[in-house]
Amino acid sequence: MRYLVLSDIHANLEALEAVLEAAPRGEFDRLLVLGDVVGYGADPNAVVDRVRALAPDAIIRGNHDKVAAGVEPADGFNQVARYAALWTFDALTDDNRAWLTNLPAGPLVVDDVEMCHGSPDDEDEYIFEHVDAVEALRAMSRPLCFFGHTHVPIGYWLSMDGFDVLVAPGTESRVSIPIEPGRRYLINPGSVGQPRDGDPRAAFAVYEADRREVVLYRVPYDIERTQAKIQAAGLPEGLARRLAAGK
Ligand code: ZN
Repeated sequence: MRYLVLSDIHANLEALEAVLEAAPRGEFDRLLVLGDVVGYGADPNAVVDRVRALAPDAIIRGNHDKVAAGVEPADGFNQVARYAALWTFDALTDDNRAWLTNLPAGPLVVDDVEMCHGSPDDEDEYIFEHVDAVEALRAMSRPLCFFGHTHVPIGYWLSMDGFDVLVAPGTESRVSIPIEPGRRYLINPGSVGQPRDGDPRAAFAVYEADRREVVLYRVPYDIERTQAKIQAAGLPEGLARRLAAGK
C-alpha cells in the first residue's frame, strides 16, 4: 500500500501541480490531505477544485479552512492571516465554501494510519517543542501519525526506552525514515504551498507501507508565478515574499 500525504497546500496551485507531477495520484493507493487547503494563496477555487478531483481517501480541515469557510471567526489569526482568510471567504464559490465547511475535524484513522492537522489531541495545536511531540506521541491511537500545521517537515519517534527527533536537512530532496517495530512515529510531511523551514521548495511525504518507510520529498515550483498572482490579487505583499525565503 502506497500513501501520498499532502498538508498545508494554502491555495498555491503551482506548488500543488509540481507535487502531483513528481507524485502522480495514479501511482498511489491512498491520498491523505491534512488540512489548510486554502488561506494565504491566490488560487483557492482552483486548488479546491483540483483537490476535489483527486478524490482524497481522507481529508481533514485546518484552521485556515475553518476561518475561510466561515466556520470559525479569525480570532487567533494575525492581521495578514485574517486579511487573507477574509479575502478567501469572498473569493470562494458557494459550492467550494460549502465543501470546506463540511471537512471533518481530525484526527482520522485510515487503515492503520492516523492523521491530524495540529495534534491528535487538538486540531489547532502547534507541535514545535519536544515536550509537545512526546505528548502527541502518547496520545496517538496508531503507531504512525501524520500531522501538519507548522509547515516544517520533521519526524519524531517514541519507544518504551527512547525518543528521538529526525530533522530533514533543508538541502536534501529525499529523506527516508525507516519505520521500525516497537516505535511510534509522528511525522510532518511539511507544507506543499508555504514551507517555513528555510527551504522554499514544495514539501510532501510518501508512506510505503510494504517497505515500512516514510520518505519526505522536496520539489521546486514556479515561485515567481505564484508571487505574481498574490500581488495581482491584492493580498499582503509579505505573503508573496515569504515564499521565496521558505519562511
Ligand atoms: Zn497551515
